[in-house]
Amino acid sequence: MKARLKGIGMTSQRTRNRLVERLADEGIENQAVLEAMRETPRHIFVDEALASRAYENTALPIGFGQTLSQPYIVARMSEALLRAGTPGKVLEIGAGSGYQAAILAHLVPEVFTVERIGSLSRKARRRFRELGLGNIHIKHSDGKLGWSKHAPYDGIIATAAPRQIPKSLLEQLALYGRLIIPVGEEGAQKLLLITRTSDAFEQEILEPVSFVPMLAGDN
Ligand code: SAH
Repeated sequence: MKARLKGIGMTSQRTRNRLVERLADEGIENQAVLEAMRETPRHIFVDEALASRAYENTALPIGFGQTLSQPYIVARMSEALLRAGTPGKVLEIGAGSGYQAAILAHLVPEVFTVERIGSLSRKARRRFRELGLGNIHIKHSDGKLGWSKHAPYDGIIATAAPRQIPKSLLEQLALYGRLIIPVGEEGAQKLLLITRTSDAFEQEILEPVSFVPMLAGDN
């Protein structure tokens, strides 16, 4: 039994290494991000039936019509977050499976994440505990409101797309903090990087993306 488990572990490490090589080929350059993806077992974040596909560079269903983003997008957003230096405190909107938060937990000191579907948020919390990721704090609530108790954040990552940027997220951004957020309707979303300066919010368009919609807490 022990040998068998070890075998599985080695296989997934090997496939994880291959995934990381592919991400590097696709242009991910941040070594800390690549290392976090090498160390984080993505198969833990999907149902067992999908575990064999966990290291393909594709989005995977996590139930309730939601998806775990493609590894390339997780890497790209993490890299964009770290481009101007390592943020101390990061907030994620849309914990989903918990995978993106687990990657962030390897990269920054403190991660806060909110999820509007209770069952997903409970499962993610269990995974963080199993993996010993004590620097992630998760809450079941409407992420459009951010998480004001721990604000301001040096970085905010949204993994669900609102039509417009929620005001609370801008308000909870620290000076020179960075917000990475997909915005727009299905089929026409863009990934934006917003930086808060002393008198403005500067905006850069990163790339076209396809995320699930960011919904209000009660629908
Ligand atoms: N980061 C996730 C991706 C999950 S998909 C992962 O690594 O698996 C996006 C998630 O955003 C879904 O779980 C969805 O329920 C959640 N979501 C959508 N609108 C939300 C809102 N207003 N507040 C919090 N979570 C929200």
